[in-house]
Amino acid sequence: AEFCRRLPKAELHAHLSGSVTEATIQKLQVKKGVAPDHAHQGDTSIGKGETRQLQEPFRIFKIIQELSDTEEAIFMMTEDVISEFAADGVRYLELRSTPRHVPHTGMTPSSYVESILSAIQTCKDREDVVVRLLLAIDRRQSVETAMNTVRLAQEYALRSHGVVVGIDLSGNPAVGDGRDFIPVLKEAQNCGLKLALHIAEISQQATAPETGALLLLPPDRVGHGTFIHHNPDLAAMVADKNIPLELCLTSNVKAQTVASYGEHHFQHWYSRKHPCVLCTDDKGVFCTTLSEEYRLAAETFGLSRPDLWDLSFSSIAHTFAGEDLKQQLRLRWNSEKNKLL
Ligand code: 5GP
Repeated sequence: AEFCRRLPKAELHAHLSGSVTEATIQKLQVKKGVAPDHAHQGDTSIGKGETRQLQEPFRIFKIIQELSDTEEAIFMMTEDVISEFAADGVRYLELRSTPRHVPHTGMTPSSYVESILSAIQTCKDREDVVVRLLLAIDRRQSVETAMNTVRLAQEYALRSHGVVVGIDLSGNPAVGDGRDFIPVLKEAQNCGLKLALHIAEISQQATAPETGALLLLPPDRVGHGTFIHHNPDLAAMVADKNIPLELCLTSNVKAQTVASYGEHHFQHWYSRKHPCVLCTDDKGVFCTTLSEEYRLAAETFGLSRPDLWDLSFSSIAHTFAGEDLKQQLRLRWNSEKNKLL
């Protein structure tokens, strides 16, 4: 466990609202004047050994989003999440979040993004981690809202000098048709934004027409991809295009899209030497850390310390960082290698 914490790591799949811990939620409740001992406590995370149906986390995200409905709250939770990842040995972090419009507090999608960016800026000198941001499209949203998110990402990619790097497609996989967003996602690609898309997260998506259509874009990374290998044609597309997979063991087992750690599709892809990146997804909601995900992978699949090192080091190649930053990260990782192995 200590080795996994000290291992320099890159986190590439972390939803902001799902990453907040109980402690931050209590601060948000105090700010909002909700008594911390009432209503939501204990309701916002899924503890060790507990599993819940996939729909349950989406109920929890909604509770957290309702608690974080001001710019100040977004700033505070972003700061907390960055500090926690840094304390866990994460040296490069890509956060993703869905810009929200909350008319009654005056928060707009722009001010939402600005609040996150200003927290990232504040943490820059204080925390030992480089942070990048993806703006998320929620599948429940209209195509028009999704297009506005892409425009926002385009605008802030320039204004933030490259902190905003891409677009995520997420949200309840049982809702909507991912094909609706293809023109929007193509537009994002055309303006140089990277794409990390949740694909084939539930079994129905192994045969749904959206899955192949989204893979054809192709995305720069796939989130979960839990059921891709159930369909040989889809598996071949991912393998041929060598699309890296963001794999979240605890999240998938606790949300019951994967029956047990031993059956996680990490095994399928890792054994074929396909690019795999271990990630947390929602470290707050699923009560995990990135070092715990590495430890679990080692325990479940028999990975050695050098294997874990290689897995972490290779994740640098799959970040949405520019080549210069990737090179700096490789130097940073290598400077820790001898102490660790
Ligand atoms: P936020 O975008 O508010 O920072 O983070 C919460 C949102 O991330 C959720 O409303 C949902 O759209 C997305 N999300 C978080 N975890 C998952 C997941 O495991 N699967 C999918 N499809 N979406 C998720």
